[in-house]
Amino acid sequence: MTTPLPAAPPVMPRTRLWTPQHVLVTRSAQEHPHTAEILRRCEAAGVDDVELLRGDRITGVRGETDRETYARAKSTLAVVTSPASARRLDPIPPSADWRVDLARGCPAHCQYCYLAGSLSGPPMTRVYGDLQEILAGLDAYVGHGTITSTSAARADEGTTFEASCYTDPLGIEHVTGSLSAAIRHVGTHDFGGPVQLRATTKFADVAGLLDLPHHGRTRLRFSLGPESVVGRFEGGTDPVGRRIEALATMARAGWPVGLTIAPIMPVGDWRTAYGDLLARVATALEGVAPGDLDLTAECITHRFTPGSKETLETWYPRTRLEMDPEQRRTKRGKFGAVKHVYPDDVMADLRRHVTDELAEHLPAARVLYWT
Ligand code: SF4
Repeated sequence: MTTPLPAAPPVMPRTRLWTPQHVLVTRSAQEHPHTAEILRRCEAAGVDDVELLRGDRITGVRGETDRETYARAKSTLAVVTSPASARRLDPIPPSADWRVDLARGCPAHCQYCYLAGSLSGPPMTRVYGDLQEILAGLDAYVGHGTITSTSAARADEGTTFEASCYTDPLGIEHVTGSLSAAIRHVGTHDFGGPVQLRATTKFADVAGLLDLPHHGRTRLRFSLGPESVVGRFEGGTDPVGRRIEALATMARAGWPVGLTIAPIMPVGDWRTAYGDLLARVATALEGVAPGDLDLTAECITHRFTPGSKETLETWYPRTRLEMDPEQRRTKRGKFGAVKHVYPDDVMADLRRHVTDELAEHLPAARVLYWT
């Protein structure tokens, strides 16, 4: 009689590390110390096409077709000096008090990308070489937020700064080092009051962050969705299993962590899919003592604007993503901007179910908002 072999552990796909094919460095960015760190990381990642520009204008990213422009832009990293608009922080409810940009653009290929329609020009990634100046500018905003005072669930956060409105900072971290520099700064600088740096990611390579002196002042949230969303619409990102592993790794190492459940969509058997997803997260977090777990959840349903729909249909002409204004409710923002969201009955159904599943599988999670 032969003894059966133990079952092999499931093979988890590797994390993805984006390596830009072209790196362009503007003249003014060449003067900033953080640019040297970016170039050191690019060289270590094997990038050999680095062009030091003689001016601050970036040209040559457009191809002859939209397809060529998209492909070239998505494989280009431009190191630039931040525009003045990026150093004047804007409020960014409900995510945080203030938006701070370390970069603009992202190398991934999400067919619902939040950046479509809000960033102009070819979708290349621009990382800011003047990071020290950007971080030094945070002092002026501490104590002036509005988000934290509106919710008891966030009362201990202090002034919050969101670093992932216009990029995925972990997705570009190995060639920029900007996220770790920001975490180190926020963790060690005396702001004269409580602060929190926040970032959301669809990537999982957290090894380089674990030992940083975060002092509980950075909350990294992992964007999660069921396979019916992630597998179909989130090209160039890390698999959801890897993100869940990364979340658990950070939680075990004592970091505040979060789930960004987004974009929530009623596709396929979505009730089962969201329940299974949150059960997987609960299993991954089993080793973290309840008293040590600092976990939040943010829930964001899918929406689009006329501008983002137009851009996304150019980038992904064969997308199967539903962006039909007829199936949506129109919502108007403060300045009349139109957003297409799910109708009230669909929204209520989604909200009830995802909230119930959160309460069942992850009762320790503080739900910060639903939108
Ligand atoms: Fe856009 Fe975020 Fe996807 Fe990057 S990871 S392509 S920023 S939605």
